[in-house]
Amino acid sequence: MKPTSKELTATQRMQPGVITLSGFLGSDTRALNEIIADDAAMLERLGHDPEELADRMEYFTRTSWSSYLDEELIEGKYKAQTDVYRGKLPCPYGHAGLYRKAITRLTNMQNGISVVWTSLNIHLIKAHCFFEGRGSAFRIEPETLVKALFE
Ligand SMILES: [Zn+2]
Repeated sequence: MKPTSKELTATQRMQPGVITLSGFLGSDTRALNEIIADDAAMLERLGHDPEELADRMEYFTRTSWSSYLDEELIEGKYKAQTDVYRGKLPCPYGHAGLYRKAITRLTNMQNGISVVWTSLNIHLIKAHCFFEGRGSAFRIEPETLVKALFE
């Protein structure tokens, strides 16, 4: 599949040192549209869609955002913590708006699975079905994320 000019521009913005120091693609050698297609196929096999995942991530981030506790216990079995840092990041696809540098750590106490995401991850999953490239600091495996969020 030949990349569109939009995908090429996004790929350039995802390189290390453009928007973030380490970039979004890690050591992944696949093209952006292949990364997205592979993760979309995996999600479909798992019976979930990106919007559903993003909404659930958003919920955990929002719930733990202003907490003064180290970790917020949610629904009796999830532990969530959100740390907000200085600065904002743009979407590499050029969407308007900036995303707060907030990192949420979620642990599903039932199965012991922990995942970490940023506010930008939520947008990238919701709007672009993009979970970042393999080896990227904030890559989230869709299967791990589904288990953490829904089991
Ligand atoms: Zn976007």
